Amino acid sequence: MIKLSFFFLIFLSPFFGFIDAKDNVKPNILFVFTDDHAPHAIGAYDGWLKSVNPTPVIDKLAQEGMVFINSFCTNSICGPSRAVIQTGKHSHKNGFMNNGNTFDWNQQTFPKLLQKAGYQTAIYGKSHLKGKPLGYDDWAVLPGQGLYYNPDMIFPDGKKQINGYCTDVVTDLAVEWLHEKRSDEKPFMLMVQHKAPHRNWMPALRHLPLYDDIEIPEPPTLFDEWKDNVPAARFQELEIDRHMDLNYDLFLDLTPAFDQPPSQKRQDRSAWHNMKRMTPEQLEAWRAHYAPKDAAFRKAKLSGKDLVRWKFQRYAKNYLRCVKGVDESVDRLQQELNKLGLDQNTIVIYSSDQGFYIGDHGWYDKRWMYEESLKMPLIVKWPGVIKPGSRRIELVQNLDYAQTFLEIAGAPQPKDMQGLSLVPLLKGEQPKDWRKEIYYHYYEYPSVHMIPRHYGIRTRRYKLMHFYQFGEQWEFYDLKNDPDEISNIYGQKIHLKLQNRLKQRLKNLQFYYEDKSDISIRKDYFQKFWKKS
Ligand code: CA
Repeated sequence: MIKLSFFFLIFLSPFFGFIDAKDNVKPNILFVFTDDHAPHAIGAYDGWLKSVNPTPVIDKLAQEGMVFINSFCTNSICGPSRAVIQTGKHSHKNGFMNNGNTFDWNQQTFPKLLQKAGYQTAIYGKSHLKGKPLGYDDWAVLPGQGLYYNPDMIFPDGKKQINGYCTDVVTDLAVEWLHEKRSDEKPFMLMVQHKAPHRNWMPALRHLPLYDDIEIPEPPTLFDEWKDNVPAARFQELEIDRHMDLNYDLFLDLTPAFDQPPSQKRQDRSAWHNMKRMTPEQLEAWRAHYAPKDAAFRKAKLSGKDLVRWKFQRYAKNYLRCVKGVDESVDRLQQELNKLGLDQNTIVIYSSDQGFYIGDHGWYDKRWMYEESLKMPLIVKWPGVIKPGSRRIELVQNLDYAQTFLEIAGAPQPKDMQGLSLVPLLKGEQPKDWRKEIYYHYYEYPSVHMIPRHYGIRTRRYKLMHFYQFGEQWEFYDLKNDPDEISNIYGQKIHLKLQNRLKQRLKNLQFYYEDKSDISIRKDYFQKFWKKS
């Protein structure tokens, strides 16, 4: 009898994992997902910011796990990226094509399927999909973009304000869930989704002095003039030079009264909402940090490239300070897993909804299919399965996450999902028929930053993009010889054969993913145009 109890104790213990019908251990999944964290702002990705050492903890996760070098989004913007992850379907299939849309929570999502497979599911932080999240046993989400200081959070029983810095608040809720609400009888899937490092880049007070004593290296394309790009690239509104606001984005002379007039019609006023929410003590500490710097800036009377360089430094430092908060969160969450004895049976994933321009091409923000915003970080640690320190070069997308989670859980992958499970890659296998190209489609125009709709194909070496709202505008890059995408080789005689082949492959991809949206959009656009003229 004693022996029998001991037997059950061992097999029911979470230390030994959860056993399904086939006697397979079901691992837990901790998915840490941030907003706008570009891979080149992660040490493990070897970008031009590596020398700053922005992410020691995430780099360690990479050393113990796997880094996906060629990881891409399907539509480079916050809400749509999250909708793709929920559904395993492209934007035109899940219906959330731009941030103005509302996600249909009644559709099939991977957390609902994980629940059916016996998982306990929870999400804390930024959802950005509007409405109450479905498919989760426990949740608390930021309304919309959320605030950096003392944010409101929406719980199943209503909205509450929580004091503290947003990244810490979200981490606290996740940690509390691990200790208080997690069931010992089920494997779990916990999504911790941070606002940081999204605009308007407000770090925690403890991180304000970080990087004060160094100059952040400048990207090689800080003064790009977009000579070879389609006209749209010259009419965008995301330049550090012309569009990044000294007051609203960089907090110059920012007072609680907030009497500075906005410099643009489409001014992002989130700084105002954020600072209004700070306590007097927080605001005083903030002002004390920036006041001497602002005085020095006024005295220097910078203009032209010097002014761009100053703006870049303040922006990049604040961005990286927000990243530091995220890095600390990853550390804390892993420490809690260790304390609970869950570390050996929990897959830890770090990803972010898309990349970002950190001065690259002279820009901030995302949206384009150019490399800096097309790429998204993906780092996975799976003790006992992933060979530590592995790096994969296969083309993967956020489209693949849902099916990956389902395969990990031993659940069937619905036929209408459009991605591929990454589990074979995680196990170190070499699938022969892995995809040779990815498909991308961005829709939000006209809107903030004025990036026109475009779609395209990217292979390991080439990228072909079609901007279809203003006639036939194309860009074509050889990423091997031109990784910064400076020379548009579209229409060059020497590349015509290859260009036509890629055009056909792009058409095939649209057929395969059943994307007819450009045709209807073009029809709408021209109808509007004809009505006006
Ligand atoms: Ca984002």
